[in-house]
Amino acid sequence: MALGEFQVFEQDLSSEALAQYLQADAIAVDTETMGLIPQRDRLCLVQLCDPDGHVSAIRIALGQTSALHLKELLEAIAITKIFHFARFDLATLQHHLGIVTQPVFCTKLTSKLARTYTPRHGLKDLVAELEGVELDKSAQSSDWGNVASLSTEQLAYAANDVRYLIPMRQKLIDMLRREGRWQLAQDCLRCLPTMVTLDLMHYPSNIFDH
Ligand code: MN
Repeated sequence: MALGEFQVFEQDLSSEALAQYLQADAIAVDTETMGLIPQRDRLCLVQLCDPDGHVSAIRIALGQTSALHLKELLEAIAITKIFHFARFDLATLQHHLGIVTQPVFCTKLTSKLARTYTPRHGLKDLVAELEGVELDKSAQSSDWGNVASLSTEQLAYAANDVRYLIPMRQKLIDMLRREGRWQLAQDCLRCLPTMVTLDLMHYPSNIFDH
């Protein structure tokens, strides 16, 4: 399977890779973990993609609690970090590596605000409709804890999860502008860090309910 421009790093980005990513105005980010509960399930892999299609995957070691180059990049105010379901990735990056990612764009949240004609907001559905690409998600539920010796299929899957987020962001912004909902979307995106703080404090997600 062709991986394109794809580099794998151990524990953190190199200085050269950091300098390259710092040139971007937006980067796509995804994580692979052992499960969906940050306090229980460890972070295994962090994937990045810049507007020129440079994809990186950083292997996170057992017990690792920081990645200073990655932190500098993800906390850089001038660079928008694009996720699909940012609420989870932000929580796991904050819990495991002490990274408070900002500013943030989420293709799932903005898809829900823009694409009200469908209930299908998974990454696979979004990439199929907006980019015309069929994503292979068969490695999604695989053992990412075996991070030192991931298979070619796992790495290809991990890379594809960040490859389409940057073009999809622009298409979603265009739809939101067309529908008069871009301001509302920006207000929702600004709430994400607060949602993540509440999640990490174990508040239920329905605290606005009666
Ligand atoms: Mn992923």
